Amino acid sequence: MSYLSQMDPEIAEIIEKERLRQTNGLELIASENVVSHAVLEAMGSIMTNKYAEGYPGKRYYGGCEFHDQAENLARDRLKKLFGAEHANVQPHSGTQANMAVYFAFMKLGEKILSMKLNQGGHLSHGSPVSFTGKFYQVAQYGVDPKTEMLDYGVVEQMAKQEKPQIIVCGASAYPRTIDFKAFQEIADGVGAYCMADIAHIAGLCATGIHPNSVGVVNFTTTTTHKTLRGPRGGAIMCNSEYAQAIDKAVFPGMQGGPLMHTITAKAVCFEEALKPSFKEYNRQIVKNAKILAETLMNNGLRLVSGGTDNHLMLVDLTDQHLTGLEAEVALGKAGITVNKNTIPNETKSPFVTSGLRVGTPAVTSRGMKEAEMRRVGNWIAIVIKDIHSDATIARVKKEVTEMSGKFPIYPS
Ligand SMILES: *Cc1c(COP(=O)(O)O)cnc(C)c1O
Repeated sequence: MSYLSQMDPEIAEIIEKERLRQTNGLELIASENVVSHAVLEAMGSIMTNKYAEGYPGKRYYGGCEFHDQAENLARDRLKKLFGAEHANVQPHSGTQANMAVYFAFMKLGEKILSMKLNQGGHLSHGSPVSFTGKFYQVAQYGVDPKTEMLDYGVVEQMAKQEKPQIIVCGASAYPRTIDFKAFQEIADGVGAYCMADIAHIAGLCATGIHPNSVGVVNFTTTTTHKTLRGPRGGAIMCNSEYAQAIDKAVFPGMQGGPLMHTITAKAVCFEEALKPSFKEYNRQIVKNAKILAETLMNNGLRLVSGGTDNHLMLVDLTDQHLTGLEAEVALGKAGITVNKNTIPNETKSPFVTSGLRVGTPAVTSRGMKEAEMRRVGNWIAIVIKDIHSDATIARVKKEVTEMSGKFPIYPS
């Protein structure tokens, strides 16, 4: 930081304030995590200085021999991690990984069948405000209104009726296991492709804690920065038969020069994820989520679908007569970062919502376990039940700061 603080004290100070925010608070946003020192170092390395358009062995620029080595390692490690035949590690983000699959296998105006955004899906699965909703027709399935879980019979019915080109499964806010095999079978039955977007649960899939989609569905897309705990970015995996179409869609189809510092950091992340400790970490994420869910429910809070199988849960605040926005703001003041989230059968706008999404990947990275999750669950309940009391919020914040201090994000 010394170069930066001399060169640009204004930015250095902002980064330091953010470091303190991350250190002193509890990050329960389900899509966030804390990367290792090694990942940070690779991301901040001189690998950013180079143009490397193309792929290893076929670049449009000279001087790429070490970039080829880094990208080959990233691809090989990712393939090994998920048992994939082919991997593309160049997408700048999860959204762009999805874009590449659509570009490779759909004509403009063809149809996507995917999960509704307000029931757990992602913007890039066909929202009218995303390119996906503008370039393609979109049909969407939700969860069963009673169980609040996926109903594969309904998905199959819709697939038969809508005749989509691609069926998308995978979600940003779905606390239950996804049956990728069922989705691929439904797709096969109607002559569609199946894409699993495992952005959220990639770490769980890589370690077998959630069923893996790779080798089961036609295409798997992911981010590398959620449960996979790497740098911000995307990746695609598929069988060899689709490799060329995918690679062409990414470059030159929709991106220029790859972010080689990020790809280098992805390689570091994948190597970390191949270690036994990463499986242990993902096991703990799920254990922590189960205890947190149990604690919230014991405090009288209703969870969508009655619990969780993965790293996240959705709290329904309807019977607390609160909105997601109110709860997010109050918990934020107490040092607990969560996000408001729509829930199945939502009646409010996405800026207000009736729910909260709560996830355990980041706090688990800091070393927190079951005992801490019980405390966190109780704090969340205390704030929600006494939301207008500044004294209560201040008391919780003090305890949050105290506990966070025992789990530094970067113990030196
Ligand atoms: C987070 C997420 C993405 C998008 O990732 P970005 O890197 O933010 O573009 C895509 N799909 C799902 C299901 C996600 O949860």
